[in-house]
Amino acid sequence: MSDIIKEVVDWIKKHRSFLITSHEAGDGDSIGSQIAMSFILEKMQKSSLILNKDPVPNTYKFLPGAERIKIQGDEGGIGAEYEAAIFLDCGSLERTGLSLPPVSSCLNIDHHLNNDRFCQLNWIDPYMSSTAEMVYLLADALSIPLEPALGSNLYTGILTDTGCFTYSNTTPRGLRIAAELIESGVDPSSIANQVYGRKSVAQLLLLGAALSSLTLTEDERIALILLKEEVFKKYETTQADAEGVVNYPLTIDSVEVSVLFKEISEDFFKVSFRSKGRVNVAAIAESFGGGGHHNAAGVKMRGSYSLIREQILDSICRQLANPLLSDRERYENNFE
Ligand code: AMP
Ligand code: MN
Ligand code: MN
Repeated sequence: MSDIIKEVVDWIKKHRSFLITSHEAGDGDSIGSQIAMSFILEKMQKSSLILNKDPVPNTYKFLPGAERIKIQGDEGGIGAEYEAAIFLDCGSLERTGLSLPPVSSCLNIDHHLNNDRFCQLNWIDPYMSSTAEMVYLLADALSIPLEPALGSNLYTGILTDTGCFTYSNTTPRGLRIAAELIESGVDPSSIANQVYGRKSVAQLLLLGAALSSLTLTEDERIALILLKEEVFKKYETTQADAEGVVNYPLTIDSVEVSVLFKEISEDFFKVSFRSKGRVNVAAIAESFGGGGHHNAAGVKMRGSYSLIREQILDSICRQLANPLLSDRERYENNFE
């Protein structure tokens, strides 16, 4: 067991009641990791409460234990007593979107390189495919039996954060853990179908509208798509219904960076970035106040569409002209 996992194990053993949280607008990794952590704590006879800003998206409601995720304002929510807090897959306190009362002790488990390290104990490892992979290693260190309910949450986190084992964070360890989880009773086909095979007609129409808005730069290395607020309204959809849309332009051979602008309200956009190869979109998102990973990142930006589009294009073009260090090189320079 590594030193940091040992520290995390000791820290958990020291406390009795926990608040578990993650970033707003939950994804498969944040939701799967939180539920898995609550199962682990339950096995250790400890009490926990999962509190999130946003409700579980429909896609992830199938996860065993999804009903454990409470949102601020729910009964048993923010007012409940707890000794310690665990932040999962969450780069900064602000990313929770919650106003949390101070806790005496907190633990931060994450695989984002730009994590603020805002807790007393921070286990940050950008070599992990997902936070779920880290929670798996923790469960293993604690000798928690791998039951399908726990395993399905961990598997979903790894599956979604690696883009079905296709992104550059797909590793032998991640695949071995996935295999262990399948051996312990997780059904990979059923989970893939739950996550990727239950779209609504409206979601496909939204995808169609997004693809109709596709534009490419002259050299065809950057793709841009825009989803206006009125389009979400037209199909009675929400921002969560556009999950995965940003990946499509990357299937064009020449495209290295795909950018999706989702209009939240007038002059306010959620911008998602995906890249293949060397372009580090986390660095671009960070420069505008957001964050993420080398090949997947995001930020919320204020300003007119034409203005933020120009700022972003400028930033991507500069990086295409002058490639940055890879995540691994940055990590090694910063921390080793
Ligand atoms: P998304 O485009 O929302 O799917 O986000 C892609 C990745 O970027 C997520 O997994 C997060 O790691 C990160 N991310 C997205 N939005 C933000 C933000 N506002 N601040 C920091 N990181 C973000
Ligand atoms: Mn996440
Ligand atoms: Mn993650």
